[in-house]
Order: sequence, then C-alpha cells, then structure tokens
Amino acid sequence: ALQKLNLEHTAITLLLQDGTFLARAPMQPQGKNTAELFNNHPIFSDYITQGVTAGSYEALSPLDGKTDIGFFHVLTNYPLVLMASMPKATAMARSKAQSQEAYFFAGGFSLLVLIVSALVWWQLRHQFTIAAQLRLQHHQLEYLSYHDQLTGLYNRYFIEEFAEKEMARAERYKEDLSMLMFDLDHFKTINDTWGHPIGDQVLKKTAELIKSFTRKADVLGRIGGEEFMLLLPQTDLPAAAAAAEKIRQELATTPMPDIGTITVSIGVAVYKTGESFLHWYNRADNALYRAKTAGRNC
Ligand code: GH3
Ligand code: MG
Ligand code: MG
Repeated sequence: ALQKLNLEHTAITLLLQDGTFLARAPMQPQGKNTAELFNNHPIFSDYITQGVTAGSYEALSPLDGKTDIGFFHVLTNYPLVLMASMPKATAMARSKAQSQEAYFFAGGFSLLVLIVSALVWWQLRHQFTIAAQLRLQHHQLEYLSYHDQLTGLYNRYFIEEFAEKEMARAERYKEDLSMLMFDLDHFKTINDTWGHPIGDQVLKKTAELIKSFTRKADVLGRIGGEEFMLLLPQTDLPAAAAAAEKIRQELATTPMPDIGTITVSIGVAVYKTGESFLHWYNRADNALYRAKTAGRNC
C-alpha cells in the first residue's frame, strides 16, 4: 500500500527499529540492496541509538548519494521507524520559490499601500487647496464688496450698513452719533489742470490724511468721486465740529505732491432719534452745501 502512494518529491520509508527495511514509496531503484543501505542510515547511529525518538535530519541518501533532509519518528506501540525525506535541493528550490512569492506579495502589497496613500494624500491636498482658494476668493469678494478700490477706504454700501447698526446702538444706549460729509473744493479744476492720474493721487492722499485723524471706533468711507463720509460714534456736535475743523486746517496746510495745498468743505450733522439714514445724510449734505456757498474751506 505504501509503495502505491504518490507523494511527489517526498519519500516515505518504513523500517524496523533495528534498521531492517520494510517498504518505501516511491519504490527503491532496481538492483540495490535497500535493506542493507538503510541499516547504516545516520538516524540510527546519530539519534535512535542515543534514545531520540523523533526529529529532523540532514544526511546523504543511501540510494543516490545526494543530500536528503527529512523527519523520522520511532513509533512507540510498534517496533517501527517512519522516515519522510526529500532531496535537499528540491526542498531549497521550493522554499526559495515560496519566499520569492512571499517577497513578491509583500513588495506588491507595500507598493499598493504606497499608491493608495499617495492617492489619498493627493486628493486631500487637492481638497485643502480648493478650500483655501475658496476662502481666499471669499475674502477677496468680501473685501471688494465693502471697499473703494482707489483709496482702500470703505465704500458707500458698507458705510450705510455700518450707519444703520450704529443708529440702532445710539438709540438703545442714548448715545451721540455724528456724521461728517467732506467734499474737495474745486476738484474739477485740479483734474483739469494736472490731469486725472494726479487727481487720483490727491484723492488717495486726502483719504490717508483724514484717516490719520480718526479714532478706532470711527468709520471713514468714500461715497462719491471726491466725497468722503466719516461716522463718529459717541461724539456730540461740538466734538464732531472740532474734529472737522482740525481736518480742514490740516488739509489746507499740508501740500500735496506736485500741486500744493488743496481745501475741503465739510458738513456736520448729529443723528436725531427716529430719523432715517437718508434724512440724516441729507442734513449733513445741506450743511456741506452751506459751507460751499459760504466760501468753501470751512
Ligand atoms: P466744488 O468745490 O463745488 O466741490 O467743486 P468741484 O469741482 O469739486 O465739484 P464737482 O462736483 O463739479 O466736481 C467733482 C469732480 O471730481 C468731477 C470729477 O472730474 C472729479 N472726480 C470724481 N471722481 C473722480 C476720481 O475717481 N478720480 C479723479 N481724478 N477725479 C474724480
Ligand atoms: Mg462733489
Ligand atoms: Mg468738490
């Protein structure tokens, strides 16, 4: 029965414990005295006679003289020794192929992990970049919608929104809230004499100068060509008029690059409880008109 087994490269040998050969699969080569050959097998001299009943070995095959590796087992209830062996070269080739396979899979798996990580990283970076761009665009849009591009001051839209909030606050806390309306004198003449680009520079410089006189809570905006509005929370009429006078004087005595000094006319109005923004604005504008008719620079 043993001789009918086909175990490919593995050979099974059954011996008596004194070394007598009983059977082998596959069959032993013809013409060899198998019984004698196995009698001298090193598993007897090295292990079994030393009392070792099971183990692995490496020894020259008594059949073909090539190195075999194998296991032997001395059965306890029968006087038998069972050997399983394989040519070492075959075993090494197999384990080499298996370890190559293992290396291949490990390498492939690492590569896969690397690719997936790279894709995830790329995707995340892409999304972060888009989010950052959106945030930036949002800030840019917000800035553009609230600011005047030439001077960098707030625009009329922002000033009106801010004014509505401040009006509600002034009413609730019974506080003063003042408005200054500025209009540069004879600005058309400046443009006509020096050209539009110089006129633009004057508008920028004027914006900077007025800004330098404002406090943290004040809000300054450009609401028309050469018209500016300054809102002064918690400021009554005398204080607002004093601020207007200071700015008027400063502008009239600070030479602009290339063109010398310019002047400004200013209207002042304190917010009256219950009036609309437009009503308040019209009162400041009327005051400004009176400053113009009174000779400007006042
Ligand atoms: P007044 O003393 O009565 O205010 O005289 P004015 O010449 O300043 O008044 P007017 O309203 O007739 O002229 C305003 C001028 O402001 C007209 C326009 O050429 C100029 N202007 C408006 N916007 C701009 C701008 O963005 N840049 C420049 N350079 N000039 C502007
Ligand atoms: Mg004007
Ligand atoms: Mg003007």
